Amino acid sequence: MAKISVIGVGYVGLVTSACFADLGNEVYCVDIDERKVEMLRQNKVPFFEPGVEELIARHAAAGRLHFTTHYEEAVPNSDFIFICVGTPMADTGAAELRYVRMAAESIGPHLQKYTIIINKSTVPIGTGDMVTEILSQYTDPGNFALVSNPEFLREGSAVSDAFSPDRIVLGAVDRAAAEKVAELHAPLNAPVIITDLRTAEMIKYASNAFLATRISFINEMAQICERLGADVREVARGMGMDRRIGPHMLNAGVGYGGSCFGKDVSALAYMAEAQDCHPQLLQAVMEINEDARLRFVRKLEGIVGDLSGRTIGVLGLSFKPNTDDMRDAPSIVIVTRIRELGGGVKAYDPVAMPRAEETMPWVTYCATPYDVAKGADALLIVAEWNEFRQLDMARIRDLMHQPVLLDGRNIYEPAEMRRLGFHYYGVGRP
Ligand code: NAD
Repeated sequence: MAKISVIGVGYVGLVTSACFADLGNEVYCVDIDERKVEMLRQNKVPFFEPGVEELIARHAAAGRLHFTTHYEEAVPNSDFIFICVGTPMADTGAAELRYVRMAAESIGPHLQKYTIIINKSTVPIGTGDMVTEILSQYTDPGNFALVSNPEFLREGSAVSDAFSPDRIVLGAVDRAAAEKVAELHAPLNAPVIITDLRTAEMIKYASNAFLATRISFINEMAQICERLGADVREVARGMGMDRRIGPHMLNAGVGYGGSCFGKDVSALAYMAEAQDCHPQLLQAVMEINEDARLRFVRKLEGIVGDLSGRTIGVLGLSFKPNTDDMRDAPSIVIVTRIRELGGGVKAYDPVAMPRAEETMPWVTYCATPYDVAKGADALLIVAEWNEFRQLDMARIRDLMHQPVLLDGRNIYEPAEMRRLGFHYYGVGRP
């Protein structure tokens, strides 16, 4: 059993804490957000992530999980400290390192014995060196080791991802420290790759950039398919059966969103430019993604005509299903653009409405998809929650002012929707 501190208990930090507590370790969770810590002390998880609440309640009750705003309660006794604070996008497009710096400055003064500090946040290449430098101002460099351990979990399935990761990436100057962190993960039986610090940091950016590239690639194919009369869903299926390609992240739609892809592609492009590289592909990936969202609204205009005074229904607001995370959600761009064009928006999301209301208070939030459909001039599917696949579509059609369905996630069968009397438009489908 190890003593572990986790700094920053957002999506990554809290899931990491729950996972290590479940493996029998004692975990101290530190966050500067007092409200969050107070909620967690009452076993309430401040965001929606399936399975986390149960784990937290169980391990807090067993005394393996503690929540605090005080570094001094956590750091001095820890064998391992995971930094899991946010690295949002700065105005320049670079990653904002303020919180990582703050965390390192708060850990430093309380280090009392040899401790391994592990950076799990997604950080620009070279940040490991920066954190090492900060900590060295407080303690002898022999008193700690810095390991980079980027996180690859996906919101919506974060708990299962944390327990069965595809790989554990560890980067360090001191290989023995990386091996100790590998031992901590041993019960997970996942492949481990040990590299130098900068390579580990880069693996995370390269992975996210590649996944974003696949999405932008298929969205570009969707646009071409639409013009040429091919069905991008079948194209993706046919491509995905090629083992060199694989089936994942090839769903055409309204583009990627969330707290990671957008900011990480942007941060990588920023780093590249700062080194006089020309990240053409990354620029194209971002441009295609931005366009996928706006093109969806242009398509709506093309079908419905002038949007002013029209009522548009939107189903799904979170950036993807099974999360309430609204960070960089395509729905924000789409809904805001409809409003700019004079349209009114009614919307429903199974869990993200309270969060959505913070950014888009002008939307009429409805209790059910059927309330959204009532009187709508068009219905848009923006996030593919499973419950939208099971709707009584005949009832939806009857409730609408006109049965126009824009399926931004291709969850319905075009022929079936047309049979039901909808004017149906998917993405990249003839
Ligand atoms: P988040 O915003 O949900 O949580 C960050 C937490 O850190 C917040 O609770 C905040 O209060 C806390 N914090 C900020 N400064 C602090 C400080 N000095 N001391 C203590 N706590 C502090 O962020 P997240 O989504 O969990 O992401 C964290 C990191 O992990 C980011 O770098 C992100 O890119 C990366 N990541 C996220 C995901 C994901 O799906 N969310 C997946 C992989 C990697």
